[in-house]
Amino acid sequence: MPEGTLSAVPARPRAAPAAARYDALVRDVPAPDPAAELPRDTRGRRLHDLRISVTDRCNFRCVYCMPAEVFGRDFAFLSRDLILRYEEIARLAAIFVGLGVEKVRITGGEPTIRKDLPDLVAMLGRLDGIRDLTLTTNGSALRVLARPLADAGLRRITVSLDALDDAAFGRLNGVDVPVARVLEGIAAARAAGLAPVKVNMVVRRGMNEAEVVPMARWARDEGLVLRFIEYMDVGLSNGWRLDDVVPAEEVLALVDAVHPLEPVPPAYPGEVADRYRYRDGSGEIGVIASVTRPFCGDCTRARLSADGRLYTCLFAVAGTDLKTPLRDGASDAELAALVERTWRARTDRYSELRTSATTDLPKVEMFAMGG
Ligand code: SAM
Repeated sequence: MPEGTLSAVPARPRAAPAAARYDALVRDVPAPDPAAELPRDTRGRRLHDLRISVTDRCNFRCVYCMPAEVFGRDFAFLSRDLILRYEEIARLAAIFVGLGVEKVRITGGEPTIRKDLPDLVAMLGRLDGIRDLTLTTNGSALRVLARPLADAGLRRITVSLDALDDAAFGRLNGVDVPVARVLEGIAAARAAGLAPVKVNMVVRRGMNEAEVVPMARWARDEGLVLRFIEYMDVGLSNGWRLDDVVPAEEVLALVDAVHPLEPVPPAYPGEVADRYRYRDGSGEIGVIASVTRPFCGDCTRARLSADGRLYTCLFAVAGTDLKTPLRDGASDAELAALVERTWRARTDRYSELRTSATTDLPKVEMFAMGG
């Protein structure tokens, strides 16, 4: 069945032939040397997190990411030969682990529309140095896929959901996917034992700020961790304007007015979300305030795009091509040296420099580099 159709998702975990091939391939990848000096970039930031995009395609057309009027039927997404195979992704992931990566997030595009995704989870799950393996999804395929992903070794998951109201959600996701479909996906994830289930909500002025309190109340009642994300100027297609950003302070004030909050210290240095707990002990929320409280100084994230480019910033203009040397027969040591050189040269701090004048600078679309 063609890639990009939900019906291609397998209903149950299968023996993973690709995983077996991968085992043979990485037998000789050396384990990271704990005594080796891990690379730091020009600002002293370590390489700790890797976001792996498995596809640039998505079955949603969210207005803030992949608006339908720009990314219509005739848009040329990457062809199959241009995207990394799972064995290639896992080999590169092992190399990143050797350079300090401990946390891996599978993303896209929409990762669950790529065929046999549990195979990749199984391969990554077998890499020793990865302490945290997770996935970000729009949740639309989780009803079918949550169990196979959990069986393959996924431990936790983040689901994006921007509203509980169908009309608001439909306007945002661009394809009228009903809220119930995502809620079913979240229920399936919980039933499969994925924990915690985190929920990402992008708040865009005039579209869903009325959903902030209902979403907070729902997540609190359900015992889910909700993260409010400030609308960002990723890519060039969403027509971003500063006026459309609902600042994290405003979101926090809305929630605090009905369910009083207090800050929680970060769980680890570089944690993206600023966390708050309900004073009555009934749970927590977070805000990801890339626009109003930039966290570039703590950013330890690299992104590997579906076509094998390494990006060191979500707002990058270009990436380092790893696929060409990989397919041309580069050794692990050569690939590691290329990643290390790229990381050591990193100067990125776009969010600290953002003004309305930076918005039109050339940037790679978020779905293309991995969100
Ligand atoms: N398709 C998956 C999903 O929906 O979660 C993974 C990829 S998506 C690009 C990753 C996350 O980025 C989602 O939570 C999405 O809401 C968020 N996102 C996309 N565009 C954004 C923007 N312009 N500002 C803030 N967050 C954005």
